[in-house]
Amino acid sequence: MALVNTRKMFEMAYKNGYAVGAFNVNNMEITQGIIEAVAEEKAPLILQVSRGAREYAKNSYLRAIIDVVVKENPEIPVAINLDHGDTFETCRQFVDDGFTSVMIDASSKPLEENIALTKEVVEYAHARDVVVEAELGQLGGIEEDVVGVSDDDISKHLADPNQVEEFVRKSGVDSLAVAIGTSHGAYKFKKEPKLAFDVLQEIADRLPGFPLVMHGSSSVLKEFVDLINKYGGDMPNAMGVPEDSVAKASKMAICKVNIDTDLRLALTAKIRQVFCEKPGEFDPRKYLGPARAKVKELVRHKVHDVLCCAGHAFD
Ligand SMILES: [Zn+2]
Repeated sequence: MALVNTRKMFEMAYKNGYAVGAFNVNNMEITQGIIEAVAEEKAPLILQVSRGAREYAKNSYLRAIIDVVVKENPEIPVAINLDHGDTFETCRQFVDDGFTSVMIDASSKPLEENIALTKEVVEYAHARDVVVEAELGQLGGIEEDVVGVSDDDISKHLADPNQVEEFVRKSGVDSLAVAIGTSHGAYKFKKEPKLAFDVLQEIADRLPGFPLVMHGSSSVLKEFVDLINKYGGDMPNAMGVPEDSVAKASKMAICKVNIDTDLRLALTAKIRQVFCEKPGEFDPRKYLGPARAKVKELVRHKVHDVLCCAGHAFD
C-alpha cells in the first residue's frame, strides 16, 4: 500500500472503535522511531508536517524522509497531513506537493468565515483526491505559532454541538477537530483536566459515522518529565491529558489523535540522560540513536495501549 488519504482509515477506525495516531515529523530520527514502531505493531499511520517543521527542515528533506518511509514499508497505509494550515494558499501548496490530507484551521474566525474558507480548501483538495480536516472551538496552550486560549478559558471555548451539522454540511469537510478540553504543548493545565465527554458524545450523535479529531492530546508522561528534570532539565508543573481519557475518546467518535509533545519529551529525556551519564560523548549517533529507540518505545505504547490501532493496518 502506498500513500493513502484518510478516508478508509477513518471508516475502519470509526467502525472498530480505535483511533489512528497522527505523529508530527520534524527530523529523521523521530520519523524512524515512529515508522519502526507502527511497522512492528502493524498499525495505520498518519505523519503530519507543520509549517514550523517545514521551515526548520525544508520541505524537500521532510518529503524525502517520508517517501523513504512509504517505499520501505509497503504493507503499512501511510497518510501525510498538513497540520494547522492557516490560509488557502498554504493548503493549496501542500496539496500540490502531494500531501494526501490537509488541515485548514480557521477556528479563531467567526463561524461563517470558518465555513467559507474550509469550503474553498475542500473544493480544491477533493478535485485532487485529498481530504480536509477543519476545526471547531478553540484549544488551549501554544503549538509553534498556534496560540490557543488560556488555561482558565478552555471550558468556555469548547466546540458547540449546535454548529457541527451546519459546518459539515456547508463546508463538505471530511473530518473535524473538536475542542473538548485538550490543549497544545507540555504545560496544558494547572490541574488534572477533565475532557468534556458529554460534548464529544453530543457531537457524535449529531454526526453519525463522521470522524472526529483530537488535537493537544499528548499525555506529558511523568516518566519523561522526571527523566528530564533528573538530568538537568527544568520542566516544573508540566501536565498533559491522562492516557485513560485519550483511550476513552479513541473508542468513541475520535478517529485521529495528534501526538507531538510526547515525542519531543521522549527524545529530549533520552538525550539528556546520555549527556549526563556520559559527559565525554560527542558522537551524535550515540545520543540520537538511543533517543530514536525511546521514540519508538513510546509510539509502540501509544498505538498498542492507548489508541488501540495496533494490528489494524490491514483493515
Ligand atoms: Zn493542533
